[in-house]
Amino acid sequence: VTDQAFVTLATDDVYCQGALVLGQSLKNHKTSRKLAVLITPEVSNGMKSVLSSVFDEVIEVDVLDSADSVHLALMQRPELGVTFTKLHCWTLTHYSKCVFMDADTLVLCNVDELFDREEFSAAPDSGWPDCFNSGVFVFRPSLKTYNLLLQFAAEHGSFDGGDQGLLNSFFSNWATADIGKHLPFLYNLSSSSVYTYVPAFNHFGSDAKVVHFLGATKPWNYKYNPQTKRVMQDGTTSASFHQLSFLALWWDIYSASILPLLEKLQKMEESE
Ligand code: UDP
Ligand code: MN
Repeated sequence: VTDQAFVTLATDDVYCQGALVLGQSLKNHKTSRKLAVLITPEVSNGMKSVLSSVFDEVIEVDVLDSADSVHLALMQRPELGVTFTKLHCWTLTHYSKCVFMDADTLVLCNVDELFDREEFSAAPDSGWPDCFNSGVFVFRPSLKTYNLLLQFAAEHGSFDGGDQGLLNSFFSNWATADIGKHLPFLYNLSSSSVYTYVPAFNHFGSDAKVVHFLGATKPWNYKYNPQTKRVMQDGTTSASFHQLSFLALWWDIYSASILPLLEKLQKMEESE
């Protein structure tokens, strides 16, 4: 299938590490869809070449490039910078349908059946379940929708300062209109809900399909021992047993498939 893609976003080399693990996890589970990553000019050239060895398409977008009035209104809202960048996914009109996934997500199995869903499908947010979480969603690229979103952003802003508030206000009938557009929580399992509802996790958790490491501490902020294959905790982190096992999965992929690519790049840069 060449007209459908998984899309992610990385605005710097740090988030690229997440994007690379996500892309590799989709490949490991043999997705039949294309892989695309949106980046901004801050991403280094070396990282771009590593991204292009995992993703079919590396698409550079520039927040400040376009200068119509809507963009200018947005530029006066620096907190919407990342929001703006995520919205660019609607411009990928060479695809008929896409699944956006945050760079801090990881697939645990093939999830190509997500493409059977329609725009706008997403899973409930664990903090406020009448809102969807914008870390995983199904959408149809369209310049019309893109422009409506920009206009909406300029007029109303975002109630949480990020893309999730904006998208929830824009697709405001998500909670009530069509249960078919509610993805099961298993497609966007926030690693924090593992401990907020332990019995549910014990009952359903083995069917998890996508883990989302939402919150301030990302997998790349932890330390990993490749010998023991364990994630190590220090004073600044407090992950539960189950969280640690998801983190270890992330690190397994990172150390087996991504680190070698980054090390190769480093050697090439040193010999230049
Ligand atoms: N993102 C990025 N650079 C940033 C912040 C966010 O590229 O500095 C992208 C990345 O794809 C990330 C997504 O925006 O996964 C949403 O941000 P984040 O995952 O940090 O938010 P959370 O899920 O923790 O609310
Ligand atoms: Mn996220």
